[in-house]
Amino acid sequence: MKDFNINSFVRKNILDLQPYLSFRDLNEFKNPVFLDANESASGELNRYPDSTQKKLKQKLSGLKGIPADQIAVGNGSDELIDLIIKVFCEPKEDAILMMNPSFAMYGFYASVNGNKVLLLDLDENFKINKDEFLRTANENQSKVFFLCSPNNPTGNSVEDIEFYIRNFNGIVVVDEAYIEFSDNRSCISLLDKYPNLIVLQTFSKAWGMAGARVGTAYSSAEIIALINTVKAPYNVNCLSLSKIMEAIDQKDFAEQNIKNTLAEMSWLDEELQQLKAVKKIYPSDANFFLTEFEEVEKVYAKLLENEILTSKRSPKIPGCIRINAGSREENIRLIETLKTII
Ligand SMILES: *Cc1c(COP(=O)(O)O)cnc(C)c1O
Repeated sequence: MKDFNINSFVRKNILDLQPYLSFRDLNEFKNPVFLDANESASGELNRYPDSTQKKLKQKLSGLKGIPADQIAVGNGSDELIDLIIKVFCEPKEDAILMMNPSFAMYGFYASVNGNKVLLLDLDENFKINKDEFLRTANENQSKVFFLCSPNNPTGNSVEDIEFYIRNFNGIVVVDEAYIEFSDNRSCISLLDKYPNLIVLQTFSKAWGMAGARVGTAYSSAEIIALINTVKAPYNVNCLSLSKIMEAIDQKDFAEQNIKNTLAEMSWLDEELQQLKAVKKIYPSDANFFLTEFEEVEKVYAKLLENEILTSKRSPKIPGCIRINAGSREENIRLIETLKTII
């Protein structure tokens, strides 16, 4: 990664852009009168949120052990996926590379932005074929590689992840939406080593705050500055900012939630193993199992009939349904319903 120049990967028009800067957010005041933003003088939520999300970033900095200028905050990590594509991929010219199957939103945002989507098919154990990666990565105009680890919807983690970061001539995004459930170390620890790396995390899963819509990106200060340049100034609202900061201050909840979820995963694993309808349960480092059934259509319909919603992956992943761990009560309802299928 010697002679790495991030600017050679950035879209030309983005390089010329100045970020929208709120004077108010960049300065400290003792007793200010705010007549600068056409807000109302009264009302419960009358002020715009801090566009720099300074307080939240300070907390995240302590939590993750990384400087605040290496953190970007998005309206869910979904927004960050979109922003990363916007920063690096020229519409109609560049492509993204993603594992197949993997999280659909990479392809969705690439398409919205007018970028091609190159798929790297996983093998029967949902692993990447390194030779195929090297071929696909170097033959095409792919600028950003989305690596999901643990991967949604397969549940397994990417092995030897540094190999892909090292051998991709572009930006590598490691999406760690489920990292809290796995034993693997976060790639945040690799940021000093790889200037082309972006790590995504979210408050939507282990933290139990999907409704707040807050996700985070960790990368070099240069890449973070570019993401901040293209984001909407007030992308995360006041309510969400304060709720997330509260959650970080009381992180016992998240820790307990992770423990409970992992306990439910083991319970589900044992129960599912015993069912005749189940053909295979793929190993999972996340809060869900990709499960293969003998008669997937029948199973899915039966669950739905009982208002148990799961994520059918068949026919793309033949015979498979993705099922996440719920509360014990919910998991019992799932298992009891599956038991009625003969
Ligand atoms: C759930 C999920 C996310 C989270 O998206 P948010 O917008 O933060 O809610 C990101 N990536 C993957 C792979 C996911 O499964």
